[in-house]
Amino acid sequence: MEIKVLKDILGANEQIARKNHALLEQHGIFAVNIMASPGAGKTSLVLQTIKTLRSKLKVGVIEGDIASTVDAELVGKEGVPVVQINTGGECHLDANMIQNALNNLPLKSIELLLIENVGNLVCPAEFNLGEHMKALVASVPEGDDKPFKYPLMFTTVDAVIINKTDLLPYVKFNLEAFTKAIKAINAKVEIFPVSCTTGEGVQKWAEWLFARMRPAAAG
Ligand code: MG
Ligand code: ZN
Repeated sequence: MEIKVLKDILGANEQIARKNHALLEQHGIFAVNIMASPGAGKTSLVLQTIKTLRSKLKVGVIEGDIASTVDAELVGKEGVPVVQINTGGECHLDANMIQNALNNLPLKSIELLLIENVGNLVCPAEFNLGEHMKALVASVPEGDDKPFKYPLMFTTVDAVIINKTDLLPYVKFNLEAFTKAIKAINAKVEIFPVSCTTGEGVQKWAEWLFARMRPAAAG
C-alpha cells in the first residue's frame, strides 16, 4: 500500500519534471540540481560558481530550504535572479515546486540555473526536477563513509564536489579512499576536491560545468 502511494507520487513528479525540462530546453537553460547534507557548503558552492562563471554566462538560482530566506538573500547580493522555495517541512524539492519557481524567474535572462536542494542525502535523490545534471556536495568534516551509507545519492549524481579540503590536515578523512568508494558505485561520476573558503579547485569544477552545458546551449 505504502509502496503504491510512493510510486504514484514519483510517477506524477516525473510528468511535471518532463514539462520543466521542456521549458528549460525551450529557453536554452542548463539546470543543475545541487544536493548535499546540511552544512556541506551548497550555498558556498553556488556563490563560488556564480563568481567564476558570471563573466561567461547569465546565471539564475533557485534556493530550496524547509524555512527562511537566508540563502536567497546571500545569493541575491550577487545581483543574479533568485527565487526561494520554502518547502514548509518537506525534506526535498519536487518538480511541482520547481515549476512554480520557474514561473517566477526571468527565463529569457538565464543560461545556467543552479538549484540548491534541501539539505538531505536521502529523498532528494529520488525526485527528478527536470534538471540536466545532478551534483552532490560532500564535505571533509562529514567523514569518508558517506558513499556506503547513502548509495542511491552517490549513484544518481553526475558530479561530486568534495568541499572544505582546507580542513584535510585537521580531520580524519581519506580523500583517496573516499574517491575510490564513489567510483566503485558510480564509475562515470566526476569528482572535484574544492575549498569554497580558499577558492582552490573551484575553477576546475566551473570549467567542467561550462563544458558540459555547451551542447545544451548550442542545441
Ligand atoms: Mg544553503
Ligand atoms: Zn524528503
